Amino acid sequence: MSEIKGESLSEGIAMGRICFYSDNIVDVARYETDDAEREFERYIKALETAKSRLQKLYDYVKENIGEDESVIFQTHIMILEDSQFRKKVENNIKNCKMNAEFAVYDAALKIGELFKQIDDEYLKQRYCDIIDSANTMLEILDPQTKDLGDDTYSVIAAKWILPSETVKFRKNNFCGFVTNQGSRNCHSAILARSMELPAVTGIKGDLSEFNGVYTIIDGYQGKIIIEPDDATIAAYEKLRADKEMLKEKALKAVELLEKEYPEALCSLEYTDPLQLLIATRLAAQCTDERVNKVTPALFERYKNVHDFAAADVDEVGKYIYSCGFYKTKSRDIVAMCQMLIDEYNGTVPDTVEKLTKLPGIGRKTANLIVGDIYGKPAVVVDTHCIRITGRLGLHKIKDAAKIETILRGLLPPEKSNNFCHRLVLHGRAVCNSRKPKCSECCLKDICDYYASTAHES
Ligand code: SF4
Repeated sequence: MSEIKGESLSEGIAMGRICFYSDNIVDVARYETDDAEREFERYIKALETAKSRLQKLYDYVKENIGEDESVIFQTHIMILEDSQFRKKVENNIKNCKMNAEFAVYDAALKIGELFKQIDDEYLKQRYCDIIDSANTMLEILDPQTKDLGDDTYSVIAAKWILPSETVKFRKNNFCGFVTNQGSRNCHSAILARSMELPAVTGIKGDLSEFNGVYTIIDGYQGKIIIEPDDATIAAYEKLRADKEMLKEKALKAVELLEKEYPEALCSLEYTDPLQLLIATRLAAQCTDERVNKVTPALFERYKNVHDFAAADVDEVGKYIYSCGFYKTKSRDIVAMCQMLIDEYNGTVPDTVEKLTKLPGIGRKTANLIVGDIYGKPAVVVDTHCIRITGRLGLHKIKDAAKIETILRGLLPPEKSNNFCHRLVLHGRAVCNSRKPKCSECCLKDICDYYASTAHES
């Protein structure tokens, strides 16, 4: 038995024999065509078929995984339709006399390489998308079946994995994957997390050596265990069963709170994304009620991001004085609006990563914006969330960032944001910190705290 450390791409545990999946972009033979027009026609025909296949993939992902994730395949259609890409392929065929397959392959590698060299994670991701789109074309122009193994294999190992391949693996019932290269923000990782496909990357060495070898992929700790012994397999089976039980409990809590609190609205008052961003900044160490008292006058004085960016910090402080920490908060609000103009074109960004770059914005506020404004999956970990999910027994920690990760693994993504809003309502009405009213609580049948203290009542 041996352990190899990597980095988690997607949480969960997968166990099975490894199927090594060879290079994602096949080597394409080059030959000189003597009929460039015929080759070009072949390319155009393949382009239409590729677009139709990608559209089907888009529809499948939208229906089975989620709308956000499906957009990846719309991007692939746009890449194939991109005028620069098409011109490059056309030039390769008509002027360089390349066969259609090689013309596409060459264009993808050359354009992709430009993105690969840029020091920006988002643009590097474009490289994978370009290669993936080109692969769809190559599968049509030069069909070669890639060996997905037989059903005695259940986890994939590869140098790296493309988004469309991630979906294919799931369709072929593979239960996880491990790669040499990848990143948590790449589209394959996003899809893997959405499909609950455990995945680990950053493993050094030649993974083909492990073809057929029984392996555990530990997506929680970002490692793989090669040829585990019986005790290790049993421990992981127990861990997997425990996680399943926690998921069931979390789902039950979601259902019970939905019944108890049909409305799951944020109690801060706002009319646009910027106002919510500012109101949540003010709400730190302050009640929502107090924030709602000061924001009408504040938003009347400063009507948009430009007004705030140009504002005098001391004057902003006078409007928000009663919210506490007014000096820091007013300084953050003005700096935040200046950064919104300088870096984000004056709009409030839609990802936790971008939002947390703004002065004074932590993961709690960022998640609230992402969930409430943009309707994306979000987990807002505040004091109510930490306390109630801990009492329920979903975790035993106090660290907000770690709790966010745990809850993301347990909650259905489309329900997580409203679940957190309902926890706030429940924390105020029933599960308060000092004297929880357990006997009248809708969650008592699934609550560890209640189970351990019921004899006291
Ligand atoms: S049973 Fe008690 S401790 Fe558990 S969630 Fe309800 S109020 Fe909180």
